[in-house]
Amino acid sequence: MTNSNDRDRLAARDLAHLWHPCTQMKDHERELPLIPIRSGSGVWLEGHDGARYLDAISSWWVNLFGHANPRINAAVAAQLGKLEHVIFAGFTHEPAVDVAEALVRLAPAGLERCFFADNGSAAVEVAVKMSFHYWRNRGRAGKQRFITLANSYHGETLGALAVGNVALYKDIYAPLLMDVITAPSPDCFDREAGESWEEHSKRQFAPMRALLERHAHETAAVIVEPLVQCAAGMRMHHPAYLTLLREACTDLGVHLIADEIAVGFGRTGTLFACEQAGIRPDFMCLSKGLTGGYLPLSAVLTTNDVYEAFYDEYAKLNAFLHSHSYTGNPLACAAARATLGIFESQPVIARNRELAAHMARATASLADHPHVAEVRQTGMILAIEVVKDRGSRTPYDFRERRGLVAYRHALSRGVLLRPIGNVLYFMPPYVITPDEIDLLADVARTAIEAMTCA
Ligand SMILES: *Cc1c(COP(=O)(O)O)cnc(C)c1O
Repeated sequence: MTNSNDRDRLAARDLAHLWHPCTQMKDHERELPLIPIRSGSGVWLEGHDGARYLDAISSWWVNLFGHANPRINAAVAAQLGKLEHVIFAGFTHEPAVDVAEALVRLAPAGLERCFFADNGSAAVEVAVKMSFHYWRNRGRAGKQRFITLANSYHGETLGALAVGNVALYKDIYAPLLMDVITAPSPDCFDREAGESWEEHSKRQFAPMRALLERHAHETAAVIVEPLVQCAAGMRMHHPAYLTLLREACTDLGVHLIADEIAVGFGRTGTLFACEQAGIRPDFMCLSKGLTGGYLPLSAVLTTNDVYEAFYDEYAKLNAFLHSHSYTGNPLACAAARATLGIFESQPVIARNRELAAHMARATASLADHPHVAEVRQTGMILAIEVVKDRGSRTPYDFRERRGLVAYRHALSRGVLLRPIGNVLYFMPPYVITPDEIDLLADVARTAIEAMTCA
């Protein structure tokens, strides 16, 4: 059925019982129709009314190689015929072993242990618990605190929310959350006029260094999103910050947790963002693109040093007793194995470099727009900061919901953009073509007109 009745009926049935994530459901009553999708192919989604949408945000940053990718489809279908799931305590299976081997092969050297969970927030919970528990097993039970960056985002379960810092998600639940130490962000949007990204990010390291020196004795780990704080509005920093952070954490005996859930798997121009700083974190959290955007799966990679702190006689009760029912799900691992196989058999990173250069060219003229404060880019992530006043960088009031105007405008032109506040961004699947990037840039241009004209 290809008609709007079909679309509207499905939307009505949905609204009768469903409650959607990150949504004020009242918005869907009138001005913001829910959009039922019936199929996807490559970068395109197709609605029940036949409308097509270019998925410029990789369906919330998960999709890497397009919807209904033939290679990943075939891998999941083949696995489905063999084994859908098995308990992962006491049992194992080939897809999980293959994925662990591939991750260890691809990740920064020294990350040799892989612990699976089933979503990004759960991976952050695992890393936080493991770090705390490591120090306890090593006789340093006083190391219980975590240092996080201003405007960081690590997920929405209570532990992950506690180590994050986006007020919109966090403030209401503050009474439920553990207390963390917050350092200023190296975010280069805040740099002084004439200051380079590198100078700014390095300067922002001084307060982090001071906090580490003061709190190292009671701190288990620092947690960061390397290079791009995505949920904060694609705010970016220079890798020099991460290099300094790694050195200080090593000097002062504090773990470094790299949350690469959003930035991993090529988004920043390298397979992992940490590579650009030449660092190896103590924990690396991965999810989102891990399965190519197919199925929920996450992994925490860590060192043999961490692993050995838990390896002991049973009666000592030093084991890491954390589990999720769907840990290491074989279907999800089959999707991940196929996804990692694409990275290992095709020049994805090199091809992305050309696409990233094309994104830069296609959006260059937007930088002069009177309501654009900055067009910034790190690899395959490009963001346009729309402001009320360019000179003073005054933002629009959030209550004006100008991002929503851009969202609706883009949909009317067949593009799924989902601005974060007043930040428009592209984080497309890697199968996008230069022509499709040109379309995105043109839609962004008219969307900015639509959101700033009133
Ligand atoms: C999305 C995200 C998470 C949480 O992952 P979920 O699977 O949504 O729980 C954690 N950290 C970062 C950096 C993310 O972007």
